[in-house]
Amino acid sequence: MAEDLALYLAGEWTEGTGGSHHELLSPATGDHIANVPLASRHDIDGAVAVARAAQDEFRFWSAFERADLCHRIASAVEDLVPEVARIQTLEQGKPYHAESLDDIEEANQYFINAAEDVKRLSGENIPTTDRNKRMFTFRRPVGVWAAITPWNFPVTIPLEYVGPGLAAGNAVIVKPPVFTSWALLELAKAFDEAGVPKGLISIIPGGPEIGEALVTHPGIDAIGFTGSSATGARIISQMGIKRSIMEMSGNGPTIVTDDANVSAAASAAVYGAYYNAGQVCCATERVIVTEAVHDEFVDRALQAAQDVRLGDPFDEATNMGPMNNEPTAAKMDRHLADAADRGAEILTGGSRAGGFPTDLYYEFTVIDGVPEDSAVSQEESFGPVLPILTAHDDEDAVGVANRTRLGLQAAVFTTSLRRAFWYADRIRSGTVVVNDSTDFWETFQPFGGAAGTDTGWGRGAIEEFTDLQTLVIDLGPP
Ligand code: NAD
Repeated sequence: MAEDLALYLAGEWTEGTGGSHHELLSPATGDHIANVPLASRHDIDGAVAVARAAQDEFRFWSAFERADLCHRIASAVEDLVPEVARIQTLEQGKPYHAESLDDIEEANQYFINAAEDVKRLSGENIPTTDRNKRMFTFRRPVGVWAAITPWNFPVTIPLEYVGPGLAAGNAVIVKPPVFTSWALLELAKAFDEAGVPKGLISIIPGGPEIGEALVTHPGIDAIGFTGSSATGARIISQMGIKRSIMEMSGNGPTIVTDDANVSAAASAAVYGAYYNAGQVCCATERVIVTEAVHDEFVDRALQAAQDVRLGDPFDEATNMGPMNNEPTAAKMDRHLADAADRGAEILTGGSRAGGFPTDLYYEFTVIDGVPEDSAVSQEESFGPVLPILTAHDDEDAVGVANRTRLGLQAAVFTTSLRRAFWYADRIRSGTVVVNDSTDFWETFQPFGGAAGTDTGWGRGAIEEFTDLQTLVIDLGPP
């Protein structure tokens, strides 16, 4: 039986007035699991108007009152973890035991971090040339944000905006993709439970049309976007003069140097390639190994690949579920065919796995001898694939790593501190991880694209959700 969902719109649980719905199909089972109502333009205008009114009062709450609200949300979220994680697995495909539970258990942390940060968010008292003047800065909220979010982490990515956004005094309207919106709608029950003022948070699932309506809406002050670089470029051209945080595609390299612990590198690279079926912005999208360690790396990676267990995402033994959607699986097909055409060797996997309820289950794939100009090397594949490229030496490896338009999170394996810094000084990437997977993640980590790449800007810090206001006071004659 498909569940009829309601929108969380302007402080109400409602079908909206769009008059149509999206039939949500599970990538794991193929079943029709829910009906998601589609909002109308009128609903969006209503959500923006109510958010503006709610934010106009909320901005006067003290930092400590906002921190308390975040702590109440964090507590309310904890009760919902198993059910939200179950729905996330059903609609997104990630394994329940190996990933979804951990992911949702971390959801409260976005509110706890924000509550702690906002209490220490202060302005400055700036010295002046004139002894009769005083100059201060204050951190004001920005206003009403639209957070446009992707399907790979359908709950936690929206919370990267809602947590600090709320703590800093903003309203946030989230637009998740219509096909991964149920888990987030379930989690939104915590907002009511915690007493979030009506309309301060709305969740309006939809596709590009609803996204565009928000991006171009005059009542929206700022855009938080997490998604592909192609969509991000379109949003930037349409949003006009609005604040923004743009978190876009990655093509994370893992570099394995001559002096690396090759076994650790292989395990970390395989993990970074199969976790969430490779559908992670900082997934290990390429491994660049130096010639001296190439053969050992390939052996170790093939050994590590044997631990990948593709299967029913609700099965405790499964650590890789289906891919989420057909366009992403079709991109894997294209990238693998292109690599094979260019002479790369598929060592294991290489196609969709048969015998499952949907065609979205993909074999974990390792490819060697990948040419640098192949699509799997140049573009983000977003699938369970480990492409291996070979470099002559460190200079060559860093050159290969940087010859891409993307720069989010890179990894380097070396036992030399000098070499670690040599790479960190040269890799064009928002984060460089030494001796761990590109998938390394902390909820409070400054995370975002390097300047000069198409990965975007912003690090998700609470300051980015504020507007710095300067106050100058003339004290008058003594
Ligand atoms: P996508 O760009 O297709 O969609 C992202 C969101 O934008 C969705 O909500 C979608 O409905 C919306 N959208 C699409 N067209 C729009 C338009 N014209 N106007 C407004 N909104 C529009 O991305 P996706 O396939 O959902 O997500 C995968 C991508 O996200 C990958 O490239 C991945 O690297 C990236 N990502 C980046 C980060 C990061 O932190 N840098 C994190 C997760 C995912």
